[in-house]
Amino acid sequence: MTAVVTRFAPSPTGFMHVGGVRTALYSWLYARKHGGRFILRIEDTDKEREVAGAIPHIIESLTWLGIEWDEGVDRGGPHAPYLQSERLDLYRSYAQKLIAAGHAYPDPYTENEVEEFRQKAEMEKRPFLFRDHRPETSDTWDGTKPLRFRAPRIMRYEWDDLARGRLGAGEEAVDDFILIKGDGYPTYNFAHIVDDIEMGVTQVMRGEEFISSTPKYLSLYEALGVTPPAFVTMPVILSPDGKKKLSKRDGAKDILEYRNEGYLPEALMNFLALLGWNPGTEQEFFSKDELIQAFDLSRIQISGAGFDEVKLLSVNQHWMRQLSVEDFITRGGFSGLDISKLKKAVPLLKERAHTFTEAREMLSGELSCLFSEPALDRSQLLAKERPDCPGMTKTALESLSEAIKSLSEGVSSEAVKEAIMPLANAEEAKGKGGRGAMLWPLRYALSGQERSPDPFTLISILGSGEAISRIRKAIGILEK
Ligand code: GLU
Repeated sequence: MTAVVTRFAPSPTGFMHVGGVRTALYSWLYARKHGGRFILRIEDTDKEREVAGAIPHIIESLTWLGIEWDEGVDRGGPHAPYLQSERLDLYRSYAQKLIAAGHAYPDPYTENEVEEFRQKAEMEKRPFLFRDHRPETSDTWDGTKPLRFRAPRIMRYEWDDLARGRLGAGEEAVDDFILIKGDGYPTYNFAHIVDDIEMGVTQVMRGEEFISSTPKYLSLYEALGVTPPAFVTMPVILSPDGKKKLSKRDGAKDILEYRNEGYLPEALMNFLALLGWNPGTEQEFFSKDELIQAFDLSRIQISGAGFDEVKLLSVNQHWMRQLSVEDFITRGGFSGLDISKLKKAVPLLKERAHTFTEAREMLSGELSCLFSEPALDRSQLLAKERPDCPGMTKTALESLSEAIKSLSEGVSSEAVKEAIMPLANAEEAKGKGGRGAMLWPLRYALSGQERSPDPFTLISILGSGEAISRIRKAIGILEK
């Protein structure tokens, strides 16, 4: 068996979106699973569409996700260079081979002439095929004219796609397409085939927009006398409602935006792996190693895969919860906060937040009371005071403060609960306002918020000293 070689070959024409990253991920997983090699090649032959900064962006995105390449840009390897624009001599030498074997010829027409052929075909309502205008004889190619492939007259091509099974397309797909443009750069159709051959690529994974061109590629492989690699077609990614192709509006965003929004790369990897592939089991959460173990091409689905952001949030929460307290703090990028309180707050964040951004918002919002003393509102403190029992709230806070005094500074929330609940239960037995008459003002005195974690958790995070000082402050307000 030949060793597996896969590649990711993006064009640097924009940011890396989920579709591109998923193709890279599947190619990489497959190579890793089979102990093969994974290549990163940059297809920069369309200079007009190139976007500055796109190559570093691709590198940063893959690196962030943990998709490492064995050879390619930024890394080198036996087939360097990996930037197509630096491989022009190679494409020219393949072109010469094709010319010598009678499979390629220089296009003798001007752009205007070709346009006229096209318009005439359109007026006559027949498909435009360049091969109908193929010149009888050809000049030698001096590199200033486009070089065209002399397409064979084959009726139909069929091939096996490793994800989709038998596919086919008719001869109209194979015309005399351009191999090398007048500007000296090869077309995608030509360059990727030369490179896949030179780099020994064994499985090519890409989107379904390439199916219709596959007969072109097959005819070119045939002309070059090379067995084509296996083709694997990715399912399209659909909008969350599954009705149309995922657009920017539905979340087809730059993959690094997820990093900025506080997602973990392990979550994105897990989520993207399942966006069009399934393990055949109910398992939802996969580590990198588990994915490599489980991945196989036959379970890549044919139908489109709906992009479910809610699912992504739950996968991200799962991976956030797997982090140790220390890792959670380092990776969460929390800064300027009391570290010992932050450590104690991590379980609360794991329970509530789906992303690190959400966690940071909680720390400066509903959980800010853990780090700074809240402002208290007298009427809120008295929200559970019964008109027929004036002073009950103050008395409750005073006895709570006494009970908390006996607790150590680093007390656990269970121990706080054990110390406080008997008081609250006694209040309940009295029937005047119940437990809430004690627990509400306590929680409010500590947090200054209508909604917050329970008072036991708050006291264990704040420490008994700080808790008592906040309760005393509340009593002070009631005495005014
Ligand atoms: N450069 C092509 C693109 O970005 C790659 C297609 C392929 O993988 O062959 O669309």
